[in-house]
Amino acid sequence: MARDFAKAFYNSKEWQHCRDAYIEHVHGLCERCHRPGWIVHHKCYLTPANIEDPDVTLNFDNLEYLCQDCHNLEHGGMDQKPVKDGLFFDENGDLRQVKAPPF
Ligand SMILES: [Zn+2]
Ligand SMILES: [Zn+2]
Repeated sequence: MARDFAKAFYNSKEWQHCRDAYIEHVHGLCERCHRPGWIVHHKCYLTPANIEDPDVTLNFDNLEYLCQDCHNLEHGGMDQKPVKDGLFFDENGDLRQVKAPPF
C-alpha cells in the first residue's frame, strides 16, 4: 500500500540533497551495525501531519542511515516473518520489491 502523501517528498530535490549529504555525513555505513548502508530512515516516521515540516523531514537529528536488515527490523519487528529475498521495507514501512539501491 503506497502512502501517496510522501511520494512528492521523496521525489523532491530537497530530500534527495539532504539524503545524499546525510549518507556522506555517516560515511555510507549503517549506524547500527556498520555494514554498508541501504536507506535513510526517519526516526520520527513521516505522517501526513509532519510531511511539510522540514524540522522532521530534513533534520539530520531525525535521520538514521540503516542497512537493509536493520531497516527491516526497525519496521518489521522481531515477531514478523523474515522479509523474502528481493523485498524490503521502504521508508514508509511499506514492503517493496528491490530494484536498485536508492543511490
Ligand atoms: Zn545495519
Ligand atoms: Zn524507515
